[in-house]
Amino acid sequence: MPQATAKLNAFPVFMRVEGEAVAIVGGGEEALAKARLIGQSSAVLRIIAAAAEAELLAFIAANGAIHIAAAYDAAHLEGAVMAFAASGNEALDRRVAEDARRMGIPVNAVDRPELCDFFTPALVNRAPVAIAIGTEGAGPVLAQMLRSRIDRMLSPSLGPLASLAASLRGTAERLLPKGNARRRFWSDFFGGAPARAMAAGQLLQAHDAAVDLLLSNAPASGHIALVGAGPGAEDLLTLRAHRLLMEADVIVHDALVPETIVAMGRRDAERLPVGKRKGCHTKSQAEINALLIELGRDGKRVVRLKSGDPLVFGRAGEEMAALRDAGIAYEVVPGVTAAFAAAADFELPLTLRGVSSSMVFTTGHDLKGNSLPDWAKLAISGATVAVYMGRSVAAEVAGRLIEAGLSPDTAVAVVENASLANRRRFHGTLADLPSLEVRADLTGPVMTIIGDAVAGANFERSEPLAAHRHEGAAQTAAEGAER
Ligand code: SAH
Repeated sequence: MPQATAKLNAFPVFMRVEGEAVAIVGGGEEALAKARLIGQSSAVLRIIAAAAEAELLAFIAANGAIHIAAAYDAAHLEGAVMAFAASGNEALDRRVAEDARRMGIPVNAVDRPELCDFFTPALVNRAPVAIAIGTEGAGPVLAQMLRSRIDRMLSPSLGPLASLAASLRGTAERLLPKGNARRRFWSDFFGGAPARAMAAGQLLQAHDAAVDLLLSNAPASGHIALVGAGPGAEDLLTLRAHRLLMEADVIVHDALVPETIVAMGRRDAERLPVGKRKGCHTKSQAEINALLIELGRDGKRVVRLKSGDPLVFGRAGEEMAALRDAGIAYEVVPGVTAAFAAAADFELPLTLRGVSSSMVFTTGHDLKGNSLPDWAKLAISGATVAVYMGRSVAAEVAGRLIEAGLSPDTAVAVVENASLANRRRFHGTLADLPSLEVRADLTGPVMTIIGDAVAGANFERSEPLAAHRHEGAAQTAAEGAER
């Protein structure tokens, strides 16, 4: 992340144009492009072109624009709130820009930034909502790319929903005290039943749902979302997780969830770290359950943010049972689990035709007992095994699997900090795996994947584990000698 945000040389504003004249000088493509852009507003277009091309003439006719079919004269700009020099002729554009400036009319000259008072944005239009994108010198391709990306993110029903909001704003301000109650109403409005009805094209139902929300003075009921934050990269968060994060009053998060993701919540949301990292001060599971129940009873909208998927080694089972017993509403939002992120980082097919058709998610901690768990048998019959929290039991896992009959040559892939920029990849065989335990340089979370399918991974960007086996062995021997 940059240290300080750079300064903008052009500052975006929204200019009132309803019923006002906007002058466009030019009869060709450039004029048409500007006419189309400004035509998305309720301004009155005044197009000055002695000779307008057919397409522009058709636009003028279809949009009720005024056409001044005469050679340009400064008087044509009179009364306009903005002007466009879009003739394609440098001398004429310069004249238009100078006239406009003299007359106090802000002017834009197509493709001549030095003559411009303002620039036009790439526009995402969900009237009354508008998103304007400016890229200064970086060019129109970037602007259009961003435009279509943002366009895809926004529901087409956002416009009518925002219009409904505008029509209810006065009433909401009269009925609801400023602060939490009002904010919650709007957030229920834009994220709840009214928004859902509008998305289904049911304007009346949307209105009724909004009125219900306004009039119900039932105490706000709390809600807990158990949300998967994914393996760490911000853009591996689901859209639903992102939306819930932005709506949450409180974010209760584990230590493995990076700060950048927690920071995606509302600025004024309360953030409660509950730890769960080795060696850090942490809350016990019972304390976390009690905290969630208390927040739910307080009517808070809570996101319980867990790394990866909340239902994979996340103790979500206990939290859900506690919430159910306490009668608090909750939902679960899946996330990309670490095994999937690690496999992606390695281009590793978790299932591979003719090689592996099942997979095991384990911690390996159950290998410590006397009897071999069932999954070890699955590994021997070709399952791909993903070991969570497996660093400290690497030697145990390797030893017991080999003992049980898995070949010491079975391929192993290890990823530290999967999905993150500082990730590290290692590859080797089951025989190399114990070296993980003695490496002091692995400080991030580590995912180990074992199985024949691992041989299908891409090892170009990974280091051999074996390089450390000997070092590790030597170190262990040295430690032994010291004792
Ligand atoms: N619910 C999480 C797992 C929590 S258990 C999930 O679905 O991913 C914590 C373990 O997950 C870590 O010890 C490590 O084995 C694994 N893990 C989580 N994030 C990881 C990452 N970015 N890279 C590698 N392993 C990760």
